Amino acid sequence: MSQKGLLTKIPYVLAYDLGGTKVEVGVVDSSGKVLKCKRVPVVFRQGKQAVIRQLADLGQEMIAEYPKIKRIGIASAGPLEPKTGVLLDPTNFSGPEGAWGKTPLAQLLSRKLKLPVVMENDAAAAILAEHWVGAARKSQNAMILTLGTGLGTGIIVNGELVRAGRDLHPEAGHLILQYNDESAPCGCGNHGCAEAYLSGRNFTRRARVKLGNEKLDAKEIADMARSGDLNARAMFDEYSFLMAVAIHNYAVVYAPELVILTGSFAQTADLFMKKTKTHLEKLLVRRRVGVDLMPDLKVSSLHNNAGLIGGAFVAFTRS
Ligand SMILES: [Zn+2]
Repeated sequence: MSQKGLLTKIPYVLAYDLGGTKVEVGVVDSSGKVLKCKRVPVVFRQGKQAVIRQLADLGQEMIAEYPKIKRIGIASAGPLEPKTGVLLDPTNFSGPEGAWGKTPLAQLLSRKLKLPVVMENDAAAAILAEHWVGAARKSQNAMILTLGTGLGTGIIVNGELVRAGRDLHPEAGHLILQYNDESAPCGCGNHGCAEAYLSGRNFTRRARVKLGNEKLDAKEIADMARSGDLNARAMFDEYSFLMAVAIHNYAVVYAPELVILTGSFAQTADLFMKKTKTHLEKLLVRRRVGVDLMPDLKVSSLHNNAGLIGGAFVAFTRS
């Protein structure tokens, strides 16, 4: 995964960051700079075909303005097969026809836009972007957690992107933190996964129940906590503890020196980061002697564009 492979002769590429709620589409140049981008809600309610049409239309708009686009990279929520560009029934994609099942998204989009399309898991794309132009530029061992509709995890170990067996992406957001916790259903069908507590969507769902208000969104809950509401604060305290448990589990398996948070919910890090760090230091106390496994914790400085820039990175480096 060296940056030497970057095709710098291509001036820019088209990239997508497709999540369970929104899609960002943009044009990124070979220095990782976003030249233009647009973020819109995905029309999941209109069905899979409508979503694919929407993605093609958004791409077409960008291509009309930037005619030198010759390659396309998609960073998408998973599970998916990065090598073939096939979505494997993504956890957080569904429409009137139900779950999406297996969908060859790269091929479908390539057919519509008549250009080669490569695909990567969104969190893998995000850590590739951080390694390319972000906080992990100088690190060979770094992890990213994307806190949006789901909890994506992407990790570089000894300078290489980590894959699971069968060339799959590790779905470490579905490590179970509390077995059989009925209060924490997860999109994957289990209860008590890290994602069931730590994604922005699931945090909000749990907080609405605890705070007795079905209408609150994540920002409103965060504002309540910032202005001193004790119940809202308690939700962020629970969050900080479970985040520490999740990072502890990732640290003992992968030993990252740096853990970066991104995604829309990372904007609430002021409410949980300090406590997460304190809890994590306690959990790792016996693992700080010799090699210190306590990672640095940071919020991404790529303005929630890590997925998009990573989508561009794979378009620049893979054929
Ligand atoms: Zn799960």
